[in-house]
Amino acid sequence: MQRRIGINASKCSTCRICEIFCAAVNTGTANPKKAHIRVVNMFPTPKIEFLESCNLCESLDVEIPICVKYCNRNALVLKEEG
Ligand code: SF4
Ligand code: SF4
Repeated sequence: MQRRIGINASKCSTCRICEIFCAAVNTGTANPKKAHIRVVNMFPTPKIEFLESCNLCESLDVEIPICVKYCNRNALVLKEEG
C-alpha cells in the first residue's frame, strides 16, 4: 500500500497546528521550525510543503500521520493507493 498526504491548500487557515504537532511528536520540542512540514502564508492560497525529512510518521506507532490527524480543516488528507 502506497501512502502519501494530499494537500488542499485552499482549505488551510495557516494555523500552524500541523507544524507544532509534527515538531512536538517527532522531535520532542514544539518548535515549528523543527517540523517536517512548512506552511507559508501566501495570498490568496497558502503554500504547504513537506520536507525531505518527512517519513509520514512511519517511525511512530500511529495509524494516521500526526499532521493529518490534527489538521481540523481537512487541508491535509491521507491517501492510500495500490
Ligand atoms: S493544521 Fe491544517 S489548516 Fe492548520 S496550517 Fe496545517 S495544513 Fe493549514
Ligand atoms: S507526516 Fe509526520 S513527519 Fe511528516 S510532516 Fe506530517 S507529522 Fe511531520
